[in-house]
Amino acid sequence: MQVPAPFEYERATSVDQAIGLLDRLGDTARIIAGGHSLLPMMKLRLANFEYLIDINDLRDEMGHIIVEPGQIRIGALARHRELLESRELLEAFPIFADAERVIADPVVRNRGTLGGSLCQADPSEDLSAVCTTLDASCVIRGPAGERVVTMTEFYVGPYETAVGPAEILTEVHFPLRPNGSSAYEKVDRRAGDWAVVSSGAAVWMDGDVIADARVGLAAVGPNTTGLPEISHALRGQAPSEELFARAGAIAARSCRPVTDQRGSAEYKRHLADELTRRALRRAVARIATPAGV
Ligand SMILES: Cc1cc2nc3c(=O)[nH]c(=O)nc-3n(C[C@H](O)[C@H](O)[C@H](O)COP(=O)(O)OP(=O)(O)OC[C@H]3O[C@@H](n4cnc5c(N)ncnc54)[C@H](O)[C@@H]3O)c2cc1C
Repeated sequence: MQVPAPFEYERATSVDQAIGLLDRLGDTARIIAGGHSLLPMMKLRLANFEYLIDINDLRDEMGHIIVEPGQIRIGALARHRELLESRELLEAFPIFADAERVIADPVVRNRGTLGGSLCQADPSEDLSAVCTTLDASCVIRGPAGERVVTMTEFYVGPYETAVGPAEILTEVHFPLRPNGSSAYEKVDRRAGDWAVVSSGAAVWMDGDVIADARVGLAAVGPNTTGLPEISHALRGQAPSEELFARAGAIAARSCRPVTDQRGSAEYKRHLADELTRRALRRAVARIATPAGV
C-alpha cells in the first residue's frame, strides 16, 4: 500500500502552538519535520495518524546552528544538508561532515532534519551515533516547560525516546572542549544505504596523553550505544595502535548485533572492532592536522 490513510494537516505557527495542538489532539496527532521517515511508514500503513502538525515554518525557533562559548546549539529543524555544509561544525566537529556525507542521498539530506533523525530513534541512525559520541544533550519542550536530557536518557528503546506525547525536541547542545577532534566510519552495502555498522569517535588530548575519549556505535544494538568502558580504557594513555586495538576489542564484545539481511552478528562485531580503531586513529590524527584528514 503506497498511499497513506487520510489525515488532517496543520502548519504550526510557533513551537508553543504546536505543543498546544499535540496536547489537545493526543495520540492521534504527530509532528512532521522532513517527513522522510514518517511518510514512508504512513504509506506502508505501519503508522496511522489522524493529524499531522507540520513544523517546517518554525525555522526561526528551531533551524539554527549557533556557536557560543562552551557549546554549539543546533535547532531540531536543522537539515542534513545544513549540518554537512556548516563551516563552524566542520571545524569543531568534523564527525558531522563524515557522517552526513554517507547519510542517504541529496534528496533526503535536503529535507531530513536533526530532530526527526533523533526522534525516529532507528538503531541504525547515523546522527544518533554522532550525538552520543559528542556527549550531546537534548532540549525537550512540552506543556510543563523545558527539560534537558542526556543521550542515554533520550533513548528509551528502538524507535522510542524520552519525548512525551505532547512534547517537541527543540534543540541539541554539543559541549565544546579544547584540544579535541572526532571522526566517523561507516560500512554500508551500497552508497547512501543505512549502516551495516558505524562507529564514531571523539578524542581530547592533554599534551601527549588522551584526556578523554568517547565512542558511539550504530546498528549494533537496540539504540546507538555509548561505550563508557572504552572511555575508561583510553583516559590517561598515549595514543597507539595497541591502544586503538584494545578499544576495538571492547567495542566488539560490548555491542549487541543481530544477524539480518545486512550481515551476520559475527561480521558486525568484526566491523565494530575495525571501525572503532579507524575512527579513533583519524580523530587523533585530526587533532594534529585539523583540516581534511
Ligand atoms: C531513502 C532513505 C535513506 C536513508 N538513509 C539514511 C542513512 O543512511 N542514515 C541515516 O541516519 N538516516 C537515513 N535516512 C533517514 C533520514 O535521515 C531521515 O531524514 C530521518 O530519519 C528523519 O528525519 P525527518 O526530519 O525526515 O523526520 P520525520 O520523518 O518528519 O519524522 C520522524 C519522526 O520524528 C518525529 N519528529 C520529527 N521532528 C520532531 C521534533 N522536533 N520533536 C519531536 N518529534 C519529532 C516525527 O513525529 C516522526 O515520528 C534515510 C531515509 C530515506 C528515506
